[in-house]
Amino acid sequence: MSRFLSEKLSALEAYVPGEQPKIKRYIKLNTNESPYPPPKCVADAVGRQEIEDLRLYSDPECTALKAKLADLYGVKEKNVFLSNGSDEILNFAFMAYGENGAVFPDITYGFYSVFADLYGVNAEIVPLNDDFTVDINAFCGKNRLVVLANPNAPTGIALGLSEIEKIVSSNPDGVVIIDEAYVDFGAQSAYKLTEKYDNLLVVETYSKSRSMAGARLGFAFADEGIISDLERIKYSTNPYNINRITQIAGTAALVNQEYFNENCRKIAETREYVKEELRKMGFKVTDSVANFLFAKSDKISGSKLYTSLKERGILIRHFEAERIKDYNRITVGSREEMEIFLDAVREIIIGGIV
Ligand SMILES: *Cc1c(COP(=O)(O)O)cnc(C)c1O
Repeated sequence: MSRFLSEKLSALEAYVPGEQPKIKRYIKLNTNESPYPPPKCVADAVGRQEIEDLRLYSDPECTALKAKLADLYGVKEKNVFLSNGSDEILNFAFMAYGENGAVFPDITYGFYSVFADLYGVNAEIVPLNDDFTVDINAFCGKNRLVVLANPNAPTGIALGLSEIEKIVSSNPDGVVIIDEAYVDFGAQSAYKLTEKYDNLLVVETYSKSRSMAGARLGFAFADEGIISDLERIKYSTNPYNINRITQIAGTAALVNQEYFNENCRKIAETREYVKEELRKMGFKVTDSVANFLFAKSDKISGSKLYTSLKERGILIRHFEAERIKDYNRITVGSREEMEIFLDAVREIIIGGIV
């Protein structure tokens, strides 16, 4: 830290992303990326001309991409916002709507508390129930910024649409963000409710189900009012927030919905298989409907399993927070990767190397 940093920021604890190893080749089950590449039409869309065009700024209105997304989801373009990763939308929303405080669960996406700190937003942290489900009533009638990941991370447990609607309708004077980073793997999206409620912001991303984490592309659905707020912040910070290549890749990716649906289906199928196998080994596994599992064993600590797997070339995610330190979050990779993972876990646990 330099002596020039504003005092407001000197105590800020930044978000710590999962490891992106550069030397050793790991089986990477630690950051919820897709094991499958983007559809071939994406590679076909980015050619020499698009590279030469990089001398020009990107389209700040993302015209083609926005039109395609709106069409696919059956909404109006004025109800769509696009961003440089969905973290940017969360960032803007905390900046815009946090004045009266924010409410989110104790166990959830780690970035919410970082954004709250960054903007001096007073955060009310609501503990999840003992079984890691969301205490719905605790999020009703708050009338300030409410933030929920659905499915939640790192538990993978999802709320139903009627529960989401209950929370949204009971907070008419506060914005409710539903972060749907993992919705495509088996939960219900709330985006259609944005036609009925002007306080709902539904956030999605290309990073997980659409196999494009590296492209940095997020999108959101909301009433025109909220979208115009987000646009105001975008045009006050970085009008060209989505680069040319990402706009082209993101538009092309939407052409092949069958490939996308098939990948989501395969991942959900593999998730259920691995869940069962882990349970057979005595693991306690939450009922995740995301592209990851959240599991703990009585036979080995969360951190020991993490390090033992790392020694075997497999990366999973371990969190230090007291309430979940016995657990690990395991991204669902390809079936082949997960067989290697399961064999390694069997060896570590049953082999008594513990
Ligand atoms: C991965 C993730 C995001 C961020 O996604 P990007 O679009 O890559 O910025 C947001 N919310 C949750 C809950 C996530 O897990």
